[in-house]
Parts: sequence; C-alpha cells; structure tokens
Amino acid sequence: MNALENYLASVAPGMDIVAGCAGMSEDDLRAHGATEHTARELILLKEAYCGNTKFTGRRRRAMEGARRNGHSIVALSIIEKYARKMPTLFDAWLLREQLCTTNASTGDLEKLAKSKLPAKKKRVKPGVRIIRRKNAPWTLAIDARSSLIADLHAALKESGKEPLEAVEQTFFGGGTAVRTTVMTNVLVNLDDYVRIINGDGEEIQLQMTNGATLTGTEYLERALKERGLITLISPFEGAVNLYRTERFANAKQRLMAAAENPICPWPRCSKPADECQIHHLEPWLHGGLTNIGNLSTACAYHNGVNDDDPNAPPLRGHLVRRNGTIRWEPPD
Ligand SMILES: [Zn+2]
Repeated sequence: MNALENYLASVAPGMDIVAGCAGMSEDDLRAHGATEHTARELILLKEAYCGNTKFTGRRRRAMEGARRNGHSIVALSIIEKYARKMPTLFDAWLLREQLCTTNASTGDLEKLAKSKLPAKKKRVKPGVRIIRRKNAPWTLAIDARSSLIADLHAALKESGKEPLEAVEQTFFGGGTAVRTTVMTNVLVNLDDYVRIINGDGEEIQLQMTNGATLTGTEYLERALKERGLITLISPFEGAVNLYRTERFANAKQRLMAAAENPICPWPRCSKPADECQIHHLEPWLHGGLTNIGNLSTACAYHNGVNDDDPNAPPLRGHLVRRNGTIRWEPPD
C-alpha cells in the first residue's frame, strides 16, 4: 500500500474511529500521535456520539447511517461543525441524523448542512427611513427601541382618530401626543429587581405586556415618572404579587395572566397580552373556574380556534397548563 492508499483507508470508516475514542481525552489522543487539530476534532465528535444525550434514538440512527454510507472523519467533522451552529440540541440531532443517513459527497453534505442553518436575523439600525415610489404612496419608517415604538403606536391609538390623521395632527396640528396612560404591566424577576434597585439594571431586559421590552435602567426612570404596574415574578413560585393602588380581583387576574404570558402562547403568535383576551384553559361552559391557574392570555383568533369542547372532534389543538407553564397541544 502506498502512502495515499494508506491515508484513504484510515480516513474512511469515520464512525468506527469516533467510537474508538470513547473514554479518551485530548491528551490521550495526542499521546497516540494525533496532531493537536485532529485530537480536538475527534474529541468534539466523541462528545457528540459517545457522550450523554437524551436523543438516543436519533444518535443511533445517525451512527448507523454514517457507517452505512462510509462517512469519513472529514465528513463527520463537517456535519459536526454545522450541528453545533444549530439553535437547540434537538435541531443539532435532527441535522446529524439527516446528514449521516444521506449518501452524498463531502461537498454535497456541506451544501445540504448550510441550507439547514437558520437564516441570520437582519440587524435593524435605529433611525427614520423614507421610501419614495413613483405614482404610489411613500413610506416613512421608524426603527427604534420597542418601548418607544409601542408608546408611539399607543399615542396614535389613544387619539381616537384614524392613524394617518392622528400622525398629521400630531406633527402639524399644534398639539402634542400624550404618552399613553393605558396601563402596561412590567414584569420583574425578583432577582432582577434587587439588581435594578442596586443600580445594576442596564443589562436586564424586562418584558412589558404591550410586547415591548425595557432595560432595567429605563424602567427605573419610568417608574418614577409614570403610573404603572409592577408584577414581581419569583423564579420558583411564578407571579408573587401585583402592586397597584386599586384592588379588583378580575383586573388583577387579567394582569397576572398577562404577566405569565406577555405574548399569546400559541406557537409563532406574537400578539402582545395587552391586545389579547383572557382564555379559560378548562372552558367555563364545561365547569372551568375563573382562577388564575385556569386562565391564560390568547389572542382573539387563537382563543376562537382553540378546541374548547372536549366532546367535539379535535381540529386545531388547545392550550393546557403542564408543570406550571402554559403551552399549546396539537390535536390528537
Ligand atoms: Zn395568538
């Protein structure tokens, strides 16, 4: 065998080499003559295919596929490079299984892996843009921190006029828009609250029930100026208490539900709680109580399509509380 054949033979059964690395450290591999680079790559592969994971089924199918397709260490390393870029462990295992069971050249595997990466989010620079069109309406777009945009939007709504008319009135009508007095709930984690009070709030992001976020520092500035609500959330017990001046049980439940789910909990829905309805998890008609444990926010649309009737055929799935958190369950 010449050196080339020798090399090709050694890189072919990639998964066998990875399995052979079980229990070895980077130093062990170096001691066996692996270069620094090779040792590091093998350890990454060993961690994926020989380490602990709850995705054992996917791992087994990935390993079988890689052996069946004779994927080399080079191919496995490429798969691993992209698997580690996936947003969750679940996605990473999905990718490993898919690529290991694909019989393709290293180049094609890389192309396929690239196409599976989630699209990078476009960075939006704060500012005001104008888009001019021939013989069509123009666009004035404002990109700014979510809390400012939410306030601008609320001020336009509050004017009671058509949004376009409200904009013109605000700019040229001699009046000024009033910052909203609609109460928006700010959710503060107990630990964060302590940090904010200690002046350490710049990095803390707080969720508001109008869908916007505030930094801890912005929140302190506002809390002194504006009427508002603070819900303290304990990481262990959920909503702890709601601080406000009046005490209406229903309003309080509504606010607590919004605090727990500041956005409609239906998958991929982004309606903020302030524009949501209050949904009974166990329907009122079927004996569900108006207790905070049985309440959730849901946008009008998803509240409408939720499979409420346990005796009717399931169509769109429904919201449930599981282990304390509210989530959507598909129709069975
Ligand atoms: Zn929704």
